[in-house]
Amino acid sequence: MTLAHDLAQDLAAIAAEMASRTDRGQPADYIPELAAIDAKQFGISVCLADGTQLSAGDSATPFSIQSISKVFGLAIALGRLGDQLWTRVRREPSGHAFNSILQLESEGGIPRNPFVNAGAIVTTDAALGHRPPKEYLAELIGFIRTSAGDEDIHIDRAVARSETETGHRNFALAHFLKAQGNLTNPPDLVLGAYFHQCAIAMTVEQLARAGRFLAGFQRLIAPERVRRINALMLTCGHYDGSGEFAFRVGLPGKSGVGGGILAVAPGRASIAVWSPGLNAQGNSLLGTEALEMLARRTGWSIFG
Ligand code: GLU
Repeated sequence: MTLAHDLAQDLAAIAAEMASRTDRGQPADYIPELAAIDAKQFGISVCLADGTQLSAGDSATPFSIQSISKVFGLAIALGRLGDQLWTRVRREPSGHAFNSILQLESEGGIPRNPFVNAGAIVTTDAALGHRPPKEYLAELIGFIRTSAGDEDIHIDRAVARSETETGHRNFALAHFLKAQGNLTNPPDLVLGAYFHQCAIAMTVEQLARAGRFLAGFQRLIAPERVRRINALMLTCGHYDGSGEFAFRVGLPGKSGVGGGILAVAPGRASIAVWSPGLNAQGNSLLGTEALEMLARRTGWSIFG
C-alpha cells in the first residue's frame, strides 16, 4: 500500500470521527462576524513531499485564517529587518492568553513573541516600515498566493470591519506599545494592516499548500529562517496551550481564532485543519484532536 493510500484512509477516518463529536467547542464570539459560523464544519488537508495533496471534510470552504496570518507576516518582517526584529520582540512562550495586556506592562512594552497579539502588532509595524498599509497587504497576499500556488485568496472585508469596530483590546495593546516607543507608525495605521491580515480567508486546501515552504518543499525564504519560524510555532504557536499542543501533537503549529491550524512535519508534510469551535485557550478543539489522531496514525513527530 502506498503512503498516499494509507493517508487517504487516515483522513477519511479522522473526518468521520470528528463528524460524530458533539462537544465541538465554541466559535470565537468577540469578533461579531465570526460568532455566527456553523460549528459543525470540519476540514483537513495534507500536502506531501512528492506533491500529493489529500483532503477530507469541508476542505474547500474558506474560513478566516486570523492568527495563522502571523506566520506569513513574520516571514515578511524578517525579510525586511532580519535579526533586528528581535530587539523589539522576544522569542519566549508567554504562558498568557493571546490578547493579554498584563505581561506587556510588566515587561516594558517588549512582547514575549511574534505570535501573541502584542508581538504580532509590533511585527506588523516592522513589516509595514514606512509604506502605506495597502502596499504591505499586497506583499503579504502576494506571498500567500505564491506559496499556495493560487491567486484566488482574498481579504474578507466584513471580518476586517467587524474587528476594527470591536477590537478594543488590540487598540489598548497598540497604544501601550506606542507609549513605550515600540511602534514606529500610528496605532490606527498598524491595526488597520493587522486586522486586514487576520481577515484573510482561505480553505484548508489552500492553507496546506501555503505551508509547503515551512515543510521544506518550496524555497521562498532561507532554510535557517524556516527553522526559526517552525521553532516559534512549536513554542508559541498556540499561546498558553503551546506546551499541551507540543505534547499531544508533537509538530510546530499555528492556530487562529477562526478555528484553523497550520502544522508542519518538516520534510514530510504540510497540514491544515479547520473546525470553528475553540477550546479555553482559543485554539480549535477538534482541529487539535484531529492533528493528534493524524500524528498518532502516521508517526509524524519532531521528537523522534
Ligand atoms: N484577529 C485576532 C485578534 O487579534 C487574532 C487572534 C487569534 O487568531 O488568535 O484578536
